[in-house]
Amino acid sequence: MKLQCTVEVNNRLSTTNVIRRKPQRSILVIGRHSVKSTDLHILWQTLQNKQGTKYKIDGNIDQIFTKFINDGKATIRMIEPPHDLIIQSDTIQLKSFIHILKLVISKKADPSVLAISNLNPKGVTSIPKTKVVVNKPSEYPTLEGFPRTTKELYLTGLNRKSFDRQILRLQSLRVLDLSNNQISSIPTELGALVHLQELILSQNRLNKALKWTWLEQTAIKTNLKLLDISDNSLIILPEQIGKLHGLVNFKASKNMLSYLPQSIGKLSSLKYLDVSKNNLNYLPGSMKNLRLILLDVSENKFQKIDLYFTCRTSVPSLLEFGAREFLKTGCPYDASIIPFTLVKYLNEAKYCVCGNPCFQYYIRKFVEYNLSTIANSVKSSENSTVQFDCYFCTIKCESCYAKVRY
Ligand SMILES: [Zn+2]
Repeated sequence: MKLQCTVEVNNRLSTTNVIRRKPQRSILVIGRHSVKSTDLHILWQTLQNKQGTKYKIDGNIDQIFTKFINDGKATIRMIEPPHDLIIQSDTIQLKSFIHILKLVISKKADPSVLAISNLNPKGVTSIPKTKVVVNKPSEYPTLEGFPRTTKELYLTGLNRKSFDRQILRLQSLRVLDLSNNQISSIPTELGALVHLQELILSQNRLNKALKWTWLEQTAIKTNLKLLDISDNSLIILPEQIGKLHGLVNFKASKNMLSYLPQSIGKLSSLKYLDVSKNNLNYLPGSMKNLRLILLDVSENKFQKIDLYFTCRTSVPSLLEFGAREFLKTGCPYDASIIPFTLVKYLNEAKYCVCGNPCFQYYIRKFVEYNLSTIANSVKSSENSTVQFDCYFCTIKCESCYAKVRY
């Protein structure tokens, strides 16, 4: 049984215990000490230490910590030497490794029958790459596919016309760069890759026909930190963008956007926003809730719009009251738990400058604000005062926020 993983070894008795070794790409093997011996060991091999370190199993394992095994993490505490092997690996492989280890410890496994290796240090050369870069179409691994352990995949400038569905099998994928291709659609399942943090789709053919269902998957909503869709042909961005709660860096420059979705003001983790080189006339009022480090709105068409004013003076409906309170809780929702019509209703929320959602009852006004109120550093072509399309949830909010600049 071989496990490809990263291992960090913590020496519990070391005086410099504070400084632990960094996680190293490793192979762990459960095997016999020698061909004739039934004495089982764990062999830990790394590229630096191809001979490996052997740890006796019988009577030598103090504890196995598996609380986070579903995240691909486990720790094996050895008695002698006093080492903790902190392991991170593919969840399924790790579970199977720990299962066999427990069978061995409880002596339920017969070492002569069990499919376990003789400890053989040669195997270390097979530690798989976690970073795959393909720069030429001729190097594309069409038949053999990508290693399942791939964490970073760079498929740039390959003239590819479609999204390769092989990518959806890479459960460890963290970085996916598909820039400079001719891709026009993204499969829904991409949003379900649990570790995906950086997605680069710049210089492709994303346009108004793009379906954004991949943004509605639970994994991407929580984990995605960087989204780059710059240099495409997008005319609008969907409200679903506002569900990417983990998004820190959003690049949408060089498109044909004339406005941004109101939900962008809900991106509470957002620090870097680049919407330069579009056709933006104004910004959504909800952006007043953002506290960015860098905002780039240069090369847009910001213009004065005659201020106008819409007010639904009727009393807000019970549905609106309920929906406002529900959205304030931040509870996730989708069509599997509430009716689809309600999901649609909730998705269409406008956001007041105060941060509260509103639906049919609101006051809408275009108000000028200085961009420095939402970002530490602003890049803009003209002056830094821009019109915001503001929704106000109450008359009180309107009187409080709408008179700031005029
Ligand atoms: Zn308000």
